[in-house]
Amino acid sequence: MRPVDAHCHLDFEQYDDDREEVISRSRGELEFVVNAGSNLMHNRKALELQEETGGFVKANLGLHPTYTDSFDELEEVKKQIRNEMPVAVGEIGLDFHHVTDVEMRERQEEVFRELLELAGEIDRPVVLHTRDAEKQALEILEDYELEGVMLHCFNGSPELAYEASEKGYLIGVTTQVLYSRRVQDIVEAVDLESIMLETDSPFLYRGERNEPVNVVESAEKIAEIKGVSVDEVVEMTTGNSRDFFS
Ligand SMILES: [Zn+2]
Repeated sequence: MRPVDAHCHLDFEQYDDDREEVISRSRGELEFVVNAGSNLMHNRKALELQEETGGFVKANLGLHPTYTDSFDELEEVKKQIRNEMPVAVGEIGLDFHHVTDVEMRERQEEVFRELLELAGEIDRPVVLHTRDAEKQALEILEDYELEGVMLHCFNGSPELAYEASEKGYLIGVTTQVLYSRRVQDIVEAVDLESIMLETDSPFLYRGERNEPVNVVESAEKIAEIKGVSVDEVVEMTTGNSRDFFS
């Protein structure tokens, strides 16, 4: 079995010069790759990638919580999601690290809630960004009945990660696991049954441009932390990603 990159942004300009090579390297090593959407335009690009790669790249459609300039696209994004029926709605959520203005945080929550509502209606799982707002986001989730929840790039406390996993939420472990003590502690705190591998490419690779194949390194690191074989990590995390994004 091959690993999956459950969250990346291959539609970003960082890949404009060599996107095909990056995707071809991914095809060589991975089962599939999930490209998160950020706003109307990025969602369109994600759909194009899905189309061009015959579904090897799967599109998530959402409205990213730091794309505050795009919040007025909400109605159009909702329409786009209803029309395209992506495998998941994302990324969506809260970001209190970048957004500090109280009114803008309120608007962020409104947008988040509307997209959770929609995901519930169309029975699609959600992919959440929760930077510095992990507790708040988990509380809001209590108000909705959802098909599935992925906490992408989770950087809350290991205790909170464990609590979330007990509710059946999946924890996205990025390539930060290679160098972040916090993320290594999260991996220790939750079962493999609750983990998906992701890169959040182009970000989170020791300051270099990240790419999907680097989940292979993460699988090795997680195997070391958990004291299991790399095969076991890949089998479990790929199974989780298949179930989640189908
Ligand atoms: Zn992302």
